[in-house]
Amino acid sequence: MFKKTLKKTTVDFASLITHQFKNLLTEVKLSLQMMSDGDFGKIGKEQKDIIEKVLERNKKLTSLVDDLLDISRIEEKGHICNLQLVDVEDLIEFLIHIEQDEIKNKKIEFKFEKLTSHQKIKLDKEKMYVALQNVFNNAVKYTPICGSVTVSLSQTENNLEIKFQDSGIGIPEDQKENIFTKFFRASNAVKMEKIGSGLGLFIAKNIIEAHHGKISFISEDGKGTTFTVVLPID
Ligand code: ADP
Repeated sequence: MFKKTLKKTTVDFASLITHQFKNLLTEVKLSLQMMSDGDFGKIGKEQKDIIEKVLERNKKLTSLVDDLLDISRIEEKGHICNLQLVDVEDLIEFLIHIEQDEIKNKKIEFKFEKLTSHQKIKLDKEKMYVALQNVFNNAVKYTPICGSVTVSLSQTENNLEIKFQDSGIGIPEDQKENIFTKFFRASNAVKMEKIGSGLGLFIAKNIIEAHHGKISFISEDGKGTTFTVVLPID
């Protein structure tokens, strides 16, 4: 009993600190953006470039904090609530919209292969958005400049399938078994992208399985990866 209360207090405290961290990061971001826009006075190109770099670091830190917040939400509640009928195509269109800048900046050839008609399924929309965003963001993040990323939807009698296919760095054979483990990052991913939590796929798997779905992948080191998410329609 005492142990349980202590654990809850620790989780509450971690969650409080993480929220405050996120608020502070947002404040720093807004101030930097205003500075970059010249709201506090004219700035030169050199200063602007430095501010852009700090903003990029701020974005990465915010993404780590977001992972921590998602983890504490999963560990606080551990289950899915707020089920509603969600149009999966619309949800993915929104994901694409959020990743658009990164896709453009990296000159990634991007395709979205849709179903012939819209399909609605019962999901916790916010949580499923987090799960799919983690998978999609990895596809973009771990694909080098001028690579390709394709998202495709397909349907069987009972399931909806979402594939995220990329021509990125791939996952080394000897590290595949650890890929959904909390905090795990493969050696080639650490080399390419120094900052990362290794929590995104752990979170995605938890959320997808809480919807009675499945997530799996096939990957070839140095060639690319395809993650497949299967969600029951009913
Ligand atoms: P993070 O991206 O913060 O490192 P994730 O939990 O999202 O953490 O992913 C865990 C690891 O799985 C990554 O560090 C990387 O090694 C590997 N990974 C995930 N998606 C891909 C992908 N599309 N291509 C190559 N490696 C990937």
